[in-house]
Amino acid sequence: MDRIDVTNPIVNFLFSLLEDVGKPKAEVAAKRVMERLSGVNIVPHFCRIEDKDLDFYNDFNIIVLGLDSVEARSYINAVACSFLEYDANDNPKEETIKPMVDGGTEGFKGHARVIIPGVTPCFECTIWLFPPQVKFPLCTLAETPRTAAHCIEYAHLIKWDEVHSGKTFDPDNPEHMQWVYTEAVKRAELFGIPGVTYSLTQGVVKNIIPAIASTNAIISAACALETLKIVSGCSKTLSNYMTYNGVEGVHIKVTEFVRDKDCLVCGPGVLIELDTSCTLQKFIDMVKEHPKLQLSKASVTYQGKNLYMQAPPVLEEMTRANLTESLFDLMRRVPSGTVHVTGTTSENGKKTSGVRKLRVAFKGVDGIADMDTAGGA
Ligand SMILES: [Zn+2]
Repeated sequence: MDRIDVTNPIVNFLFSLLEDVGKPKAEVAAKRVMERLSGVNIVPHFCRIEDKDLDFYNDFNIIVLGLDSVEARSYINAVACSFLEYDANDNPKEETIKPMVDGGTEGFKGHARVIIPGVTPCFECTIWLFPPQVKFPLCTLAETPRTAAHCIEYAHLIKWDEVHSGKTFDPDNPEHMQWVYTEAVKRAELFGIPGVTYSLTQGVVKNIIPAIASTNAIISAACALETLKIVSGCSKTLSNYMTYNGVEGVHIKVTEFVRDKDCLVCGPGVLIELDTSCTLQKFIDMVKEHPKLQLSKASVTYQGKNLYMQAPPVLEEMTRANLTESLFDLMRRVPSGTVHVTGTTSENGKKTSGVRKLRVAFKGVDGIADMDTAGGA
């Protein structure tokens, strides 16, 4: 979705010309690679990753990520894992595995990892690897700024709203950025704080850490190599998380992370077989009694759609009619599918909320044979 910024040519060999500034990165990158390598065919897509439907992603044999946020990674990870199916013994069906190679850099540090859904940890299994993003307390920004970043965030988060009531700040609008920069400079002068520059303003507001060409080259090379290994089978892939640190000297380490067996995104979930006549209400009662689930006051979603919600009252009312419908009909008569159930559990007398992933298979419907005989049919 990005367009080429004036600072990009320094760190990206594909955007070498100033005339590229303002053009979509995807289109220029595709053009430059095809110019350089004959026989290579690249189709650029200039849009949000969420704009493509599941069929688009399902067409690929492998997905290589060069994303810049946790949210975007989470999204693609969920998409790739949604194709994953398990057999009756909770083993992933090989033909439904969509491998991913993920790379990322931050200044002199970077990582490359291989995600084979159902085999290696998915992005969500190890989401704890990402530290929470630094946010400054508003009172510090408003009263006791101590750093250039504090002054920038003051202009960005507080002053902007005071002056432009109702107008949303657009980080991609140079005029907006310039306004924040000017205000931040005034703020810094008032408190005698040095270091506010336009590029720092961009960095703080957009949460950008300057990219380093060598780090990008090393990480993208690692990703390309892992991709080659997966598509050709020429060697074992790295298992499964490589970190690179070039801050002082060069340090490269591979750590093997393990899967979270209960992961709601890539895990098998609990398999439940139902009659096609089973109503949603009966299913909710069953979830409460099931020894592996024991969730009371359950809300149920299927493919992001609310089938039944206990709260808030307005949603409860909207979904109440579904309780007497059969789950089979509500799941559009598929032989099997995954539903997410949210409810309360009690552990040692303490009530906590929990989410469970359930693989529902309907008895006597085509496809059920797969569930009965592992890997059969
Ligand atoms: Zn996972």
